Amino acid sequence: MKFDIDILSEPRNDWIFDEAKQLLQLPFNDLLFLAHSITRKNFISNSIQMSTLLSIKTGACPEDCSYCPQSIRFNTEIEKHELLDLENVKTEANKAKSSGATRFCLGAAYRGPKDKDLEKIIEMIKYVKSINLECCATLGLLKPHQAKMLAEAGLDYYNHNVDTSKDNYQNIISTRTYDDRIDTLQEVRKSGMKVCCGGIIGMGESEDDRIQMLVELSQMERHPESVPINNLVAVKGTPFEKLHGASELDFIKMIAVTRIILPRSYVRLSAGRNKLSEAEQAMCLFAGANSIFYGEKLLTTDNPEEDKDLALLNKLGITIEAPNPNQKHIPL
Ligand code: SF4
Repeated sequence: MKFDIDILSEPRNDWIFDEAKQLLQLPFNDLLFLAHSITRKNFISNSIQMSTLLSIKTGACPEDCSYCPQSIRFNTEIEKHELLDLENVKTEANKAKSSGATRFCLGAAYRGPKDKDLEKIIEMIKYVKSINLECCATLGLLKPHQAKMLAEAGLDYYNHNVDTSKDNYQNIISTRTYDDRIDTLQEVRKSGMKVCCGGIIGMGESEDDRIQMLVELSQMERHPESVPINNLVAVKGTPFEKLHGASELDFIKMIAVTRIILPRSYVRLSAGRNKLSEAEQAMCLFAGANSIFYGEKLLTTDNPEEDKDLALLNKLGITIEAPNPNQKHIPL
């Protein structure tokens, strides 16, 4: 099948599995050329969006996501803490801003937040916004009134990953369903916040599961504005401790296919970036990734050090994108 760059540069909700699968079967150079051409058409070349993620409540989560060291059900060595004080969050947000991040993400290990905690988190969001950073939060399942509260507080993005395909979901998590996840995503959309939603590869899923997850994301009425793609970081004590994640080549191909299927979404290189060499990261950026998590920790797992990231971007001639200046990124 011949893929047309102009047609593929427009967001589509009618991707079907067989068509999407053909992308993965393209010769590697053709796949990367196609993905890179779409990136150039829809975004400012050689620029990147940078987010810093802070874990505001770590561990003791009642859910059983098999990849996650924060579940109370697994015996892992993480430093647990209750919800941080506002003053801690202010300090970390200021640090992120002065290091060059343009978005500050607040992550809490909850099945879903309690309203009394949400009130404290709303104070954090208001502070992040007051220093002119974009703000994102990932707090688990939301009730309709909670999504509304967050939107009214000025939260720009809500992160809620689908993680994997609908069919594979119960092999990863048993304490909630894929549809629970979709319900929250719909509430986020209804509230007017932007959606950050992606997944993890290298968890023993098939290539078909990876493609199916992207097709399911593309079939959402509006594509998520932000799509984190993670490579499993296998943590001791979790059910997935013996897995090895996806190969570097498969990860790069996943980034490229994500770019093509979700042509105007920011595709974020997320967990697992620490394992990639500079050349492999450069290849991911060529393949369409245009966002990274910036800062030495990603919740509980390691991430490249900030000065290494800045040095790499410098070598590649890539500049940090200020919030919302990208006129070529036409809203869906
Ligand atoms: S991924 Fe989130 S919901 Fe799942 S166990 Fe970890 S903190 Fe809890």
